[in-house]
Amino acid sequence: MTKSSKSIIALIALSLASAGFVFAAAAESKIAGCCAKAAADGKKCAHECCVAAAKEGNNCTKCKGAGKIEKKAEAKK
Ligand SMILES: [Zn+2]
Ligand SMILES: [Zn+2]
Repeated sequence: MTKSSKSIIALIALSLASAGFVFAAAAESKIAGCCAKAAADGKKCAHECCVAAAKEGNNCTKCKGAGKIEKKAEAKK
């Protein structure tokens, strides 16, 4: 195998990996049940794990949430 064909394979592997990252980033986000309940009441979930996750911009995975918190333009009237 020549050097150039090796680097082409490396490039293909790299592009596949980055495509995987894009896919992971587009994964569905899911708000944990407890947090959704709190939000419905106009509150923030008081669970320590949820507060910590929210600080990172994530939904609490401990409470069966997943992915990033979707920032919606909240209609505060
Ligand atoms: Zn919660
Ligand atoms: Zn939690």
